[in-house]
Amino acid sequence: MAAHALTRAGARVTVLDKGRSVGGRLATRRIGAGHADHGAQFFTVRTSEFAGYVQEWASDGVAYEWARGWSSGDQHTTKPDGHPRYAVKGGMNALAVHLAETLPSTAEVRVNVKVTALHTDGRGWRIAQEDADDLHADGLIVTAPVPQSLALLEAGNTYLTDTDRAALQAITYDPCLCGLILLDRAPLLPDPGAVQRPNYWVSWMADNQRKGISAAPLLTLHADPAYSAAKYGAPDAEILEDFAPVWRPYAADAVILEAQVKRWRYSQPAVMHPHPTLRAEGLPPLAFAGDAFGDKSRMEGAALSGLAAAAALLH
Ligand SMILES: Cc1cc2nc3c(=O)[nH]c(=O)nc-3n(C[C@H](O)[C@H](O)[C@H](O)COP(=O)(O)OP(=O)(O)OC[C@H]3O[C@@H](n4cnc5c(N)ncnc54)[C@H](O)[C@@H]3O)c2cc1C
Repeated sequence: MAAHALTRAGARVTVLDKGRSVGGRLATRRIGAGHADHGAQFFTVRTSEFAGYVQEWASDGVAYEWARGWSSGDQHTTKPDGHPRYAVKGGMNALAVHLAETLPSTAEVRVNVKVTALHTDGRGWRIAQEDADDLHADGLIVTAPVPQSLALLEAGNTYLTDTDRAALQAITYDPCLCGLILLDRAPLLPDPGAVQRPNYWVSWMADNQRKGISAAPLLTLHADPAYSAAKYGAPDAEILEDFAPVWRPYAADAVILEAQVKRWRYSQPAVMHPHPTLRAEGLPPLAFAGDAFGDKSRMEGAALSGLAAAAALLH
């Protein structure tokens, strides 16, 4: 989102991502014949600014409305509340890929590039990368989870003001343990193929086939922050065993074809920064962005934060 805003204003942009694809927590994984979203599951729209982008993605055939509410577990509890929840054709990661592919030629996207340190000589930035020459830039937007962004500055002996450092160090994230279960037959989850129980230790369970992104029945389960913190280092088998009584009632006779655990150390912000971006004082242009900035959080918050960081840098 930031790269689009910067290139629209005439800047030349390089996007660096350590992942095999862009997208970060917009993450989709192939398992056997299925595909599963294992980070963000859907997104909502609360602002007219974001609604404009979502309309564009929907008319481009990238995003689609999945549901207007979730079941809390039985067949009769799905309560439509009028608010559309959007998913992405092919999985959430496809939205990030779409954004990368529609950048103009004044932007370059490099994946499998791990940034190791951010240095400054007082005028611009030198970006150290694993297995590649340093890169130079006039300005920088860092969108990694904030503890990781701070570590990159520290590794480059780049010092923030006390105020900026304290504001950034106050940001925290919850972990999330995610179970992915490929089955030989469809589980009988209530419409629309997902169960949301915000106060239960498994807060989310969805069948990616019912969602429309998987050729095979494939469950995604998310544990809440308390369980995820307590069991973060537990073996996969123990976590999968804990998940089993939660999904089994919906798939009594199904055979597990494959099961995986994905650990998110930084899943969603717990303590956020109140503004959509933080422009560092006393350094060459540097803005921090991501879902921990602003008052929206989650995917919409991350998108709006990217736009705000671009505006701050251009200013
Ligand atoms: C389990 C889970 C469930 C979620 N459910 C929902 C949901 O249903 N709805 C919703 O709206 N949101 C949901 N979210 C939150 C949503 O995914 C995030 O808010 C959003 O994707 C954050 O985007 P971001 O750009 O701020 O950060 P990220 O997506 O984390 O992007 C940061 C990027 O920085 C890259 N990076 C980090 N360090 C380096 C480095 N050293 N060098 C190069 N690149 C680096 C990473 O590879 C990554 O691509 C969920 C998240 C998780 C984990």
